[in-house]
Amino acid sequence: KPICVIVLGMAGSGKTTFVQRITAHLHTHKTPPYVINLDPAVHEVPFPANIDIRDTVNYKEVMKQYSLGPNGGIVTSLNLFATRFDQVMGFLEKRSQQCKHVLLDTPGQIEVFTWSASGSIITETLASSMPTVVVYVMDTARNVNPVTFMSNMLYACSILYKTKLPFVVVMNKTDIVDHRFAVEWMTDFEAFQEALEQETSYVSNLTVHESHPGRVLLQPHVLPLQSRSYLICVGVSAVTGAGIPEFFDAIDKAAEEYERDYKPAYERLR
Ligand code: GDP
Ligand code: MG
Repeated sequence: KPICVIVLGMAGSGKTTFVQRITAHLHTHKTPPYVINLDPAVHEVPFPANIDIRDTVNYKEVMKQYSLGPNGGIVTSLNLFATRFDQVMGFLEKRSQQCKHVLLDTPGQIEVFTWSASGSIITETLASSMPTVVVYVMDTARNVNPVTFMSNMLYACSILYKTKLPFVVVMNKTDIVDHRFAVEWMTDFEAFQEALEQETSYVSNLTVHESHPGRVLLQPHVLPLQSRSYLICVGVSAVTGAGIPEFFDAIDKAAEEYERDYKPAYERLR
C-alpha cells in the first residue's frame, strides 16, 4: 500500500513548492507519486496533479453563487469537494496501487483544512485506508525569533493532537537560514530559554514565566504520548532540493509509527 503524505503549513511556508520538489524527486527515482491538489484558489499548479480540486469546483463561481469572500469561497469549495471524496477514494484505490506515495497539497490558509469538517473528513478517510503521515512545513527564515518559533510550534502541536497521526516537521528554506538553531531549541530547553532572555519585549517575559508549558509542548516526550519519543524534524530547501533524501527517511519512519501506534484507532473508524 502507498504512504499518504498530507502537506500542511502556514500560508507562504512553501507547501506547494515542496510538493513540486518531492514530486520531481520521486519522478527522477522512477517511483512517480499520486498527487492531489486541494487548493481551489491556486493560480497554477506547478506539478502534475492526478486529481485537482479545481476540476470539480470553480472557486470564483462558488464565491459569486453563495455571495462569499475569498476565505468563505475556499472553505465552501473544500466542503463541496469533501462531499464527493468517496469518488476520489475510488480513483485512488484503482490507480494508486502502482505508486509508493500519495501526496496532498492543501489550501494556503492552514486553518481551512485543519479546523474544518471537510479537512477532518478527508484526513480520516485517508488515514483509515492507508498509512498516513502529516507533514508540517515551516518557514525557517521567519521563525528565527524564539517567540515566533514557539507560537508556530504550539500551532504544530495543536494539529498533532487533533489529527492523531505521525507528524514530520519540515524546516523549509534552509537555503536562507540553517535550521540547526531550531533543532537545538527543540531538544535543549535551556538553549531556548537563553534565546528568550535576549528578547526584551514583555511577551518574552510572559513566555519565560510560563516556561514549563513551553517545555511540555516543544518536547512532547515529556507527555505520555504512547511510544512517541520525539517529533521528527528535517531541514530542507524546496528550492535547491537539500535535505530531500532525509525527508523520505523520516516519512518511512513515520509510516512505521502509523502501523505500530495509530492504525488500530483508525481501523475502528472504517
Ligand atoms: P504555500 O503557500 O505554502 O504553498 O507556499 P509556496 O510554495 O507558494 O511558496 C511561497 C513562497 O516561498 C514562494 O515565493 C516560493 O518561491 C518561496 N519558497 C518556497 N520554498 C522555498 C525554499 O526552500 N527556499 C526559498 N528561498 N524560498 C522558498
Ligand atoms: Mg500553496
